[in-house]
Amino acid sequence: MPFIDLASQYQALKPRIAERMQRVLDHGQYIMGPEVAELEGRLATFTGAAHCITVSSGTEALLISLMALGLQPGDEVITTPFTFAATAEVIVLLGAVPVFVDIEPDTCNLDVSQVEARITPRTRALMPVSLYGQVADMAPLNAIAERHGLPVIEDAAQSFGATYQGRRSGALSTLGCTSFFPSKPLGCYGDGGAIFTSDEALAQACREIRVHGQSARYTHTRVGVGGRMDTLQCAVVLAKLERFEWELQRRREIGARYGALLEGTRVRTLVVRPDRDCVWGQYTVFVDQRADVQARLQASGVPTAVHYPKPLHRQPAYAAFAGADEFPCSDAASHRVMSLPMSADLTEAQQDEVVDALRAALG
Ligand SMILES: *Cc1c(COP(=O)(O)O)cnc(C)c1O
Repeated sequence: MPFIDLASQYQALKPRIAERMQRVLDHGQYIMGPEVAELEGRLATFTGAAHCITVSSGTEALLISLMALGLQPGDEVITTPFTFAATAEVIVLLGAVPVFVDIEPDTCNLDVSQVEARITPRTRALMPVSLYGQVADMAPLNAIAERHGLPVIEDAAQSFGATYQGRRSGALSTLGCTSFFPSKPLGCYGDGGAIFTSDEALAQACREIRVHGQSARYTHTRVGVGGRMDTLQCAVVLAKLERFEWELQRRREIGARYGALLEGTRVRTLVVRPDRDCVWGQYTVFVDQRADVQARLQASGVPTAVHYPKPLHRQPAYAAFAGADEFPCSDAASHRVMSLPMSADLTEAQQDEVVDALRAALG
């Protein structure tokens, strides 16, 4: 069984994907073709944000967002150490300083109650991550940001399609960034990403930064990057949008079913707060003696993964930013998290096989 079943999704959408890609090959506008604006319109409507700017990856979405905010060397950005490295990487790339705040032990998202104490005169932005497909606690975070006049960037790479208090991930703060890496909830067939905002000036800045800071052809108003998402990848996402709502529903159902099947085992499941849903970008649980359990599952043909085995304050490239600060919940999670097979096409039979193998592995 695959960890993420992209093959079944492709089989289901094959004619639509072929048709969409063929159209691009026929019109030949490989860069900034009509599918780019079409996708941006569809995704803006989907999230409820006024603007969507597609970019070349989720990482580039985060980088361009910080550049649009005018992040300067020495500025501080508050974020979580329990995330994929890209979140902190873009801060450091711009010469700024990631200030880590620990996570909630039951959701693995930023512990918002610890944020305000870490704000200094150098703080320039707050960057929560909606890990595993569940939105971080944006309402209190936005309230803190407002009190201090700070922008909030949601790293929504794993949570596209999730809702928080009835609104979509990506459209909950100053800027929202997502990724269309193939294994994310909405993936393309290569690299891609998007920025969402309802701030007109920031949207314009992101559009310019995406194309080398050009406000008009060969007028480089600001320093930018080569950060466009190509037309073929936009065509793939457009084709995949056809059944995306169904996929989100399946992900929620499969997540709920995993939760029910794992009740009474020695595995602890992630808590989903009542004011939001989880689209299970990863179906991640907490387990003791993880390496042994993983090895036994592997032997029974059930693939697993660890997101993430080492928090950023323990990574050579980022440890110096944490100094002597401690992040006990991130450390504890990093030793126990294990992700199980998850995709919209996972069948009940496959899911039963995973859970049976897991029960056997737990002894
Ligand atoms: C995948 C991911 C990214 C980076 O997205 P890419 O498209 O691979 O660049 C950033 N943050 C988080 C939390 C991610 O999971």
